[in-house]
Amino acid sequence: MDEIDDPRIRSVVIVGGGTAGWMTAAALVQHFRTAPLKITVVESSDIGTIGVGEATIPTIRRFYGQLGLRDDDVMRATQATCKLGIRFLDWSGPGSDFIHPFGLYGQDVKGIGFHHYWLKQRRAGDAAPLAAYSLGAALAAGGKFTLPSPHPPSQLSVFDWALHLDAGLFAQHLRAYAEAGGCARIDARIRSVELRPEDGFVRALTLDDGREVEGDLFVDCSGFKGLVIGEALGVGFEDWGRWLPCDAAYAVQSENRPGDAPAPFTRVTARSAGWQWGIPLRHRAGNGLVFSSAHLSDDQALAELMPHLLGDPLTEPRRIPFRPGRRSQAWAKNCVAIGLSSGFLEPLESTSIALIETGIERLKALFPDRRFAQPILDEFNDQTAREMERVRDFIILHYKLNRRTDTDFWRDCREMPVPETLERKIALWTARGQFVRYRWEMFHPASWLAIYDGFGLYPDHHDPAVDAMDPAYLARSLAEMRANIADLVARTPEHAQFLAGLDPAAS
Ligand code: FAD
Repeated sequence: MDEIDDPRIRSVVIVGGGTAGWMTAAALVQHFRTAPLKITVVESSDIGTIGVGEATIPTIRRFYGQLGLRDDDVMRATQATCKLGIRFLDWSGPGSDFIHPFGLYGQDVKGIGFHHYWLKQRRAGDAAPLAAYSLGAALAAGGKFTLPSPHPPSQLSVFDWALHLDAGLFAQHLRAYAEAGGCARIDARIRSVELRPEDGFVRALTLDDGREVEGDLFVDCSGFKGLVIGEALGVGFEDWGRWLPCDAAYAVQSENRPGDAPAPFTRVTARSAGWQWGIPLRHRAGNGLVFSSAHLSDDQALAELMPHLLGDPLTEPRRIPFRPGRRSQAWAKNCVAIGLSSGFLEPLESTSIALIETGIERLKALFPDRRFAQPILDEFNDQTAREMERVRDFIILHYKLNRRTDTDFWRDCREMPVPETLERKIALWTARGQFVRYRWEMFHPASWLAIYDGFGLYPDHHDPAVDAMDPAYLARSLAEMRANIADLVARTPEHAQFLAGLDPAAS
């Protein structure tokens, strides 16, 4: 078959070897293992990677599971700890504390959401918090960890888990996987991107030493700068700063304190104009402050961050400016942007790596040929945009519902108008305790419930169908659910013990 008869993509060039680049390379190598497709990663060890991105959500395990990688192998390779959710401190005012777990609350009965039963009991004076019905939240609060069961109706099937991992080690692990599967790697700085004069498609990358790297499809994983999608193809950026005022971070690594058990959750603590993260790994911890530079100087930011690290600092704090928003089109001509080049939302809910995963899934599902049919690009762009907007809304919710009164920053966030899509969600929740479901949502109703409850926003009514249940029976059932969870938590080993079991040498 000559070139005209066979329009298949022959070579993919991945521009950048950070988390996005190596995840894409590994996934494409696995997906196309028998096809004659050449895959090349071009990265520059001089430039390096962003070097943050340590908290994930459970979909990461599905991602590497598809590559045939096992939890325990990935955990050993990346110095990972287990994550059952995110603990929010001081967001509703000093001393406030709640966990957004990966998993469900209670059990729905006859198609009616569990939270309606709980709301009715709450109104009747039952003081048991929603978190008492979440096994994931209860395990996290107790510093416990066990593997969930994939088989409902096991009581252990109602929660899920993710990893805190060393992003650099994760990329190395995936690089070894991709190279073993035939992926080529070029370590060089890209000087320029060459476009075809006839249609403006990308023809090649020119490297610092003058070499050219040609390809049919280019995946832009070059980080914030968007070397191909932005700089060469001129695709614009939709700025979401009016809803997400944080635009900078300081990141710093710290030592683990001897005797401190790693928490099975990410810690996010509200500060005067942003929030601080704390992520425990086995060999060290990740810390950082995400803040609004319009409200806080760099000196003030450091003064808020440094006294609250998870241990003594191991590195100098590194400043990372960013712009919240998304690339107007994630796919233009023969270039698909995956990772930071396609946009960024602050890491409050650990969504960036998850968005890389869905970008890769989408690319596999819509993999083009050299004709790059417009409907393929349109569908990819539409799905990507909608998914990012839904994540955006979920993150804005945390700012909108805050109850802090100490600074203009928090007061302004509470008063800001929010996107109409989020307004609808909040309105339906307060009117009827229900969830508007949009397409391509990463966060399910249980996550929205966790945030509404954590910030104390409750609907005016519960579902009237709940009133058909005998109140004494309802009270007994809920007490039983709480007791079961407390009993399971009491019988579950410590998170540290689970980690020690991963590594025979350390136990
Ligand atoms: P990068 O890591 O920046 O990689 C870019 C690659 O392109 C590098 O290999 C670089 O060498 C190469 N490159 C660039 N220019 C050239 C050139 N001219 N020539 C050759 N090569 C070039 N995500 C999460 O999921 N969880 C988190 O907890 C989390 N925390 C974060 C905290 C902060 C403060 C920030 C800013 C981000 C965080 N993220 C988090 C996002 C996460 O870090 C990124 O999504 C992830 O690391 C992917 O980055 P990337 O691969 O797109 O870009």
